[in-house]
Amino acid sequence: MGLFNSRKTIYVDSDVLVIGGGFGGCGAAYESRHWGRDLKVVVVEKANIERSGAVAQGLYAINCYMGMQWDENKPEDHVRYARNDLMGLVREDLSYDIARHVDATVHMFEEWGLPFMKDPETGRYQREGKWQIMIHGESYKPIIAEAARKAATKVYNRIMVTHLLMDKKKPNRVAGAVGFNVRDGNFYVFRSKSVIVAAGGASHIFKPHSVGEGMGRTWYAPWSSASAYALPIQVGAKMTQMENRIVLTRFKDGYGPVGAYFLHLKTTTENAYGENYEPTWYDSIKEMVGDYVDHQPVPTCLRNHAFLQEVKAGRGPIRMVTKEAFKDPHKETVGWENFLGMTIGQAVVWASQNIDPKEINPELVMSEPYVMGSHATCSGAWASGPEDYAPDDYQWGYNRMMTVEGLFGAGDTIGGTAHKFSSGSFTEGRIAGKAAVKYVTDLGSDQPQVDEAEYENLKSVVYQPMENYEVGRNEIVAGTVSPSYLLPLHGLQRLEKIMDEYVGGTGTNYLTNEPMLTRGLELLSMLKEDLPYLGAESLHQLQRAWELQHRVITSECVAQHTLFRKETRWPGYYYRADHPKLDDTNWHCFTLSSYDAKSGEWEMEKAPVHHIID
Ligand SMILES: Cc1cc2nc3c(=O)[nH]c(=O)nc-3n(C[C@H](O)[C@H](O)[C@H](O)COP(=O)(O)OP(=O)(O)OC[C@H]3O[C@@H](n4cnc5c(N)ncnc54)[C@H](O)[C@@H]3O)c2cc1C
Repeated sequence: MGLFNSRKTIYVDSDVLVIGGGFGGCGAAYESRHWGRDLKVVVVEKANIERSGAVAQGLYAINCYMGMQWDENKPEDHVRYARNDLMGLVREDLSYDIARHVDATVHMFEEWGLPFMKDPETGRYQREGKWQIMIHGESYKPIIAEAARKAATKVYNRIMVTHLLMDKKKPNRVAGAVGFNVRDGNFYVFRSKSVIVAAGGASHIFKPHSVGEGMGRTWYAPWSSASAYALPIQVGAKMTQMENRIVLTRFKDGYGPVGAYFLHLKTTTENAYGENYEPTWYDSIKEMVGDYVDHQPVPTCLRNHAFLQEVKAGRGPIRMVTKEAFKDPHKETVGWENFLGMTIGQAVVWASQNIDPKEINPELVMSEPYVMGSHATCSGAWASGPEDYAPDDYQWGYNRMMTVEGLFGAGDTIGGTAHKFSSGSFTEGRIAGKAAVKYVTDLGSDQPQVDEAEYENLKSVVYQPMENYEVGRNEIVAGTVSPSYLLPLHGLQRLEKIMDEYVGGTGTNYLTNEPMLTRGLELLSMLKEDLPYLGAESLHQLQRAWELQHRVITSECVAQHTLFRKETRWPGYYYRADHPKLDDTNWHCFTLSSYDAKSGEWEMEKAPVHHIID
């Protein structure tokens, strides 16, 4: 019996369990209640849904809105746009499904009190770009959270979910989840007929530009710790496109967004000598990817590539030309408000570095890679598609159900569907919620059961880092390095170094190859061997320990996928130096992986990309 087995166990029963109360999770809770009036809908969140997830600080634009009421765009147009940006590879059934429902979601947001900017002439939502509409979004998250709170039977804040529970009778069916309260340390066993994972994407699996005390300053929220992927991976759910990591152009040091600058302020970029550098790289990009370079808009990764090549050629830094735009008082206001509504840190960085964008064109930088499924890339779980639209081999059950029965996902969790952003993630949560309710209703008396032995065992596993610390700290006379345990921060730094140096981080200019990936995987497996020796001195550190566990298994998945895809499909996101060109003949396909937790083995396969829309 371990020191921490005396922690209280709290049991919670539900019909629909939503893990993560961000945009996907709030949408899932809202819609589950709509279709399942009498069902028990529970949300479990490691922070507090009021201000959790990627939208915690607010946003300045809703990036996915068709505008069908004004004939601005059709859902098919959005699928074409996302497909083009992803160099041909998206799940068109899933993307279309979101696009056809997303406007209704946005209209609800307005009814709930989210302030939208309106075009004074037309009265329509103020467009920032073809797909983006502008909002006063500092309170975006609390407004959306309120709807979820009212819909859910109960929201459990401050509980970090560590593992999913499987059904005692059917090996491939989910039955709930376990986690611990990060404040009082109690152990939670959630028994549920269905589970929707909406736990956000992954930052800090690659080494960030910011180090030391600035390490928390990353583009993607530092608390997005890959649970969305690790939870399904651990129970054998198939994952897709995990190699498709995102790298973004952002303002240097503060990671301030550039969308409003390009789209609304109409600013451009230039190299250190004031030249437009993108045309310089046209021929060499064409050589690598063929006609994709001629597509409009030019895919994000290719623009990244031109930026990176220009810097490598010694003509950096690349700057955003703001001096002109900031002469216009309206644009100047938008430029600053854009940060104040969602990335206050960028305004602070500029102030601290004497950068007035009216006087100085600020530097841009290419971020470290992140893994996510709702922004401009599409890593995530392989999910069943909509009944009325998905081709047969994309359909094996309920909409958004993974390859594990009863396990659904939304937002960053679901793969193959880039460009859903906040509104699309909420919409996908709604789609998953509706499907989960149907699944639960159809279950009848055939209901999943958790295995007591399984969750009791997990209870000791979950608190093991605290026990390791309690016992091992006696061996330390000074400092933090112990012969018998590894602190979560040290483990994280080791992970980031491996990913950076072997799997295509900034340290190698996003470059990798088969020998590097093979060595990276060896080092990751050595790191995995050490994880049972993590030491946590507090509940806060225990959370860090489990976040690290989730990041490591996700990183392994990313490395396996990167090794499997033998081409450079997205130059500017990463490069397979041993396969430097895009290869549509062999790789116009999805990559799928499944992990066997018992053997530690990964199985990789290809799945066809069906083009449903012309
Ligand atoms: C920097 C940045 C800027 C963006 N800008 C825009 C924009 O301008 N416009 C736009 O429309 N979209 C924008 N997006 C995209 C949008 O934020 C995401 O698409 C959306 O938040 C994804 O929803 P999600 O539910 O998957 O993840 P999130 O909203 O991040 O929610 C995940 C939730 O899961 C919780 N969680 C994680 N792990 C666990 C665990 N183990 N146990 C319990 N809970 C857990 C988290 O605390 C969090 O609350 C931006 C994203 C980022 C990162």
